[in-house]
Amino acid sequence: MTDTSGTLFIVAAPSGAGKSTLVNALLEREPGISLSVSHTTRPPRPGEQYGRHYYFVERTEFEREVAEGVFLEHAEVHGNFYGTSRKTVQHLLQQSRDVLLEIDWQGAAQIRKAKPDCVSVFILPPSRVELERRLRGRGSDSDEVIERRLRNSRGEIAHAHEFDYVIVNDRFEEALDGLQAIVRAVRQRSDLQCQRHEALIKELLAEA
Ligand code: GDP
Ligand code: ADP
Ligand code: 5GP
Repeated sequence: MTDTSGTLFIVAAPSGAGKSTLVNALLEREPGISLSVSHTTRPPRPGEQYGRHYYFVERTEFEREVAEGVFLEHAEVHGNFYGTSRKTVQHLLQQSRDVLLEIDWQGAAQIRKAKPDCVSVFILPPSRVELERRLRGRGSDSDEVIERRLRNSRGEIAHAHEFDYVIVNDRFEEALDGLQAIVRAVRQRSDLQCQRHEALIKELLAEA
């Protein structure tokens, strides 16, 4: 089986737009799609677990992994390093699962080059005021970290047009419906469907 049996979805957003909340809700609702857990040098937030939210690693270990070619993509975001494991993604795709990457725009650009069939989604907050409210309301980061993420949000949002789809996360349920609709529509694409239903199409085309 080739690694094209599942679809690679990318979800990106400025920090605090609601990306993780949307993705987690999607994974609960929609079978057949798995999240790729990234490696990061960022320290864990309260409640974050190794292997569930991230593989938290020291910088030296991350650098060694980069040199060894462990990552399908990696980038520096908000002063920390983040990377997607090549092995995890290949393994899931080979099991015919769709795979979702929660990564930044730099990682998304690298993935588009390596896997042109990927489908990318950008999440926008409904306003700057609301973005700041969500970042502060989450209560997971220091003021300094929040300021930095707010400053960096423009740099992320400037790349929204590079993505296949854009969702404004104003009313949560509507945004979630939009994200689920994208996943479902991609699964019905003719190239994938004709491959899956090759036998059916053959049978339907056969002379009586
Ligand atoms: P949050 O997602 O903003 O709550 O905060 P995080 O610290 O978890 O992530 C910060 C940024 O790093 C976000 O833009 C993520 O999309 C991005 N990120 C997370 N994992 C990866 C990864 O494996 N590769 C890349 N390139 N970016 C990542
Ligand atoms: P990100 O992963 O993009 O950094 P999170 O998923 O952590 O963002 O969301 C940031 C905060 O905003 C969280 O406290 C989350 O509960 C909240 N949030 C997410 N979506 C909405 C929404 N549509 N309306 C109000 N609050 C939201
Ligand atoms: P908390 O971290 O306290 O769960 O949520 C922080 C803020 O995000 C709150 O204002 C909360 O209403 C909002 N929020 C969290 N999850 C959702 C959601 O699923 N839908 C909506 N509309 N708001 C949410």
